[in-house]
Amino acid sequence: MAVQTTEKDYYLNFVNGEWVPSSTNERTKNINPANNDDLVGYVQKSTKEDLDQAVAAAKAAQKEWKNLSGDERGKILYKAADILESRIDEVAETMTREMGKTLPEAKGETARGVAIFRYYAGEGMRKVGDVIPSTDKDAFMFTTRVPLGVVGVITPWNFPVAIPIWKAAPALIYGNTVVLKPATETAVTCAKVFECLAEAGFPAGVVNMVSGPGSVIGQGLAEHSDVNGITFTGSNSVGKQIGQTVLARGGKYQLEMGGKNPVIVAADADLDLAVDATISGGFRSTGQKCTATSRVIVQSDVYEAFKEKLLTKIKDITIGNGLEDNVWMGPSASENQLNTVLSYIQKGVEEGGSLLLGGERLSGETYDKGYFVQPTVFEGVTSDMTIAQEEIFGPVLALMKVDSIEEALDLANDVEYGLSASIFTTNIQKMLSFINEMDAGLVRINAESAGVELQAPFGGMKQSSSHSREQGQAAVEFFTSIKTVFVK
Ligand code: NAD
Repeated sequence: MAVQTTEKDYYLNFVNGEWVPSSTNERTKNINPANNDDLVGYVQKSTKEDLDQAVAAAKAAQKEWKNLSGDERGKILYKAADILESRIDEVAETMTREMGKTLPEAKGETARGVAIFRYYAGEGMRKVGDVIPSTDKDAFMFTTRVPLGVVGVITPWNFPVAIPIWKAAPALIYGNTVVLKPATETAVTCAKVFECLAEAGFPAGVVNMVSGPGSVIGQGLAEHSDVNGITFTGSNSVGKQIGQTVLARGGKYQLEMGGKNPVIVAADADLDLAVDATISGGFRSTGQKCTATSRVIVQSDVYEAFKEKLLTKIKDITIGNGLEDNVWMGPSASENQLNTVLSYIQKGVEEGGSLLLGGERLSGETYDKGYFVQPTVFEGVTSDMTIAQEEIFGPVLALMKVDSIEEALDLANDVEYGLSASIFTTNIQKMLSFINEMDAGLVRINAESAGVELQAPFGGMKQSSSHSREQGQAAVEFFTSIKTVFVK
């Protein structure tokens, strides 16, 4: 196994095939958000100079890498998958300690990372081009796809294994080289993924990781004239800024941002199914998924019955350190995130929402060293309230009562986001109305708002996403350019 620490707990950058410290040797300390005494590691606080070296390495390596066959590139991705698979327990435990999601969720995410590597390894064998008949009978015309060159990957902390892999794997298989900037909050977990990449045998410079502040390394990638494409997942405010920066220099970018995802519960819904999906969608990962359920729009005929079942089941949620058995929900990922959630809850109360459950930071022996918040449910929420409009990224649900499906759809669409949306109904007409009218990139029927299979296109509408979809074969759109060839 590649050793990537110079001292215990110190995680380095991976540049040009080597583990290197930042030029200033400054570091950031990452601790377990469930237990402040648990040190996860120190990560590099890199500079623009460190970034420039990584981009130069990626640029130098790209020609040789793109000239390998897709099959040869795929073999290295298969190797990375095997190595990560052999380390699932260790990588998942690091993830749980670094950002708080429970161990089973962290294992599931790491296994997803393995599967994504394998999916794109296989994509290396796929033809990517079309024959286009020419009007000239003596000519032959076709398209082929070429890599962008160097791709800058900027990732958030909430899926520290799956998101870096679902961006880097397609970038690599289509012949790009990569400079990845992980979220600082989870840069140790990402370094573990890079240990697997380092061992898999990529030529030096093909994959690079530089950790550091978003305003320096993320912004530096966005501005860099040798970075041909930027793929970003994170908040709307940062995403928009990156989009403007890359556009101004004529680069290509792809942004995956926030959500304010609704679940509609129709009068004819299977209420038990809807309750389970609302709890899973709203509270798994402590509500810190871009596809998390946050608005629950219920037809008045079943509102009281649904509410009662929901509140009863939420009371069974066990909260604690995600490393422990039987814990279903961990902490917020950081003190910052906890404070954001608590301030949204306060706003919800101030603006007239009725708190049905939760609303407070948890205290007591199990919780005092971490950033735990109670699962929280509001009712009486109207569309003009902040908690009905802004992404909270915490375990907070807003219940909204409506009389008809038309009203439910209007409400569901009355936000600036459009990532994921669900309906629970047994009525085919309601399903069809929902499919036709819901402005969301992921439209799910009788299934929770969070979750999508890896071979399917992923992304949103409105302010949730910008440009082409991620995942599956859709990824080829962003990571390649089309060349139209005319032969006479
Ligand atoms: P964030 O926007 O704060 O950070 C994302 C990344 O951008 C991090 O690596 C960060 O260091 C970097 N960054 C910060 N400032 C920057 C700047 N000025 N220039 C360039 N890069 C900069 O987001 P976060 O808090 O890490 O993640 C949570 C957000 O991510 C939520 O809004 C969530 O909805 C979103 N998200 C979206 C998806 C999706 O696929 N749509 C998936 C997961 C998370």
